[in-house]
Amino acid sequence: MSTMIAARLHAYGEPMTLDRIPMPQPRSTDVLVEVKACGVVPNLARVVGNFFGTQVPDLKVMPPLPAIFGLDPTGIIAKVGDQVLAVHPGERVYVNPARSCGSCRMCRGGRSLDCPNFTFQGYFGRSQEIMRAYPYGGLSQFITAPATALVKLPDNVSFEAAARFGYLGTAYAAMRKIGVGPGQSLLINGISGQLGLCAALLALAMGATKILGTGRNAALLGRVKALAPQRIEVLAVPNAPLHGGDRPATPDALIVWAKAATDGYGVDGVIDCLPPGAPASAMMRALFCLRRGGRAVNVGAVMETLPVNAFWLMTNRIGLQGSVWFTTAEGEDMAAMAGAGTLDLSVFEHRVSPLSKINESLSGMDDRDGGFTNFVIDPTQVA
Ligand SMILES: [Zn+2]
Repeated sequence: MSTMIAARLHAYGEPMTLDRIPMPQPRSTDVLVEVKACGVVPNLARVVGNFFGTQVPDLKVMPPLPAIFGLDPTGIIAKVGDQVLAVHPGERVYVNPARSCGSCRMCRGGRSLDCPNFTFQGYFGRSQEIMRAYPYGGLSQFITAPATALVKLPDNVSFEAAARFGYLGTAYAAMRKIGVGPGQSLLINGISGQLGLCAALLALAMGATKILGTGRNAALLGRVKALAPQRIEVLAVPNAPLHGGDRPATPDALIVWAKAATDGYGVDGVIDCLPPGAPASAMMRALFCLRRGGRAVNVGAVMETLPVNAFWLMTNRIGLQGSVWFTTAEGEDMAAMAGAGTLDLSVFEHRVSPLSKINESLSGMDDRDGGFTNFVIDPTQVA
């Protein structure tokens, strides 16, 4: 029997170990992918440290142990199931980890991200059954996945760059929801982080005319502005609290700045990319930068309750929506944009570690240049 090596977590809070396990075989509609690179999100360190078990004890979200994590795998198709007709061994792919049940009303209607059993392969989710059906995350030499999960990669998109598709796609799907495009202004709250930088790259690709961004690190903000100095404006903001759910009584520096940059109207859209631990007031500030009729979408990790004044929301015709992840079709869009050169992925600095260094990599993720650092594990290196 052929075997492979995978990094497995046997207990939350413990290091992963490299284990030799049986090579999986693809079912009829699945493919087997040899993983060449897997993106690692900084949040994975919190997840394997049992963040959900301690912070959100009522959610049955974690995979059964031993578990193979790894959210953003890229690689080469090694084998296809007997009913897979249009992708072939040897093709380069990103594997969208978004799994759904396939049979509920949402899935049958083509809205798989709205499946009540939505589950991330190699991370966590809402269905233990789906986690058991697709137990291979990208921290493994091979994985199986449905053929419908594959995003084909153009030759000029490296496995390492495509390993960033999780953040990129999350930003892309969010901005599609609020109609980012030519003539539009957009405020990216937290523009220099892992998610915010991806939002900036995609806003440039999607034709947004004016891109405003907040952050706390002036040096990183300067690097973001340098991507497109004519279109990107940045402002370093403190985390001083805003009191109450109404507009601040005294002019707030961010709101004054955003209005001045948009002829006094306020921005057409806001995408909130704030990191875990950011206060609700930091998100409220960005919402107050919207023009009348403006729309905001949240893909950030603010966990505090927002003090939103419903009357303000109504009278100003404000839209506020949450968004999680992206469809395989949206992944194909991004691959096409990167292939054509309209989406520039050259700004990422790939920090590639062998699979054998996964634990060291996870514990070293606080040392990064904001969103410019791209953490990648190479499962072809096991020693
Ligand atoms: Zn479903």
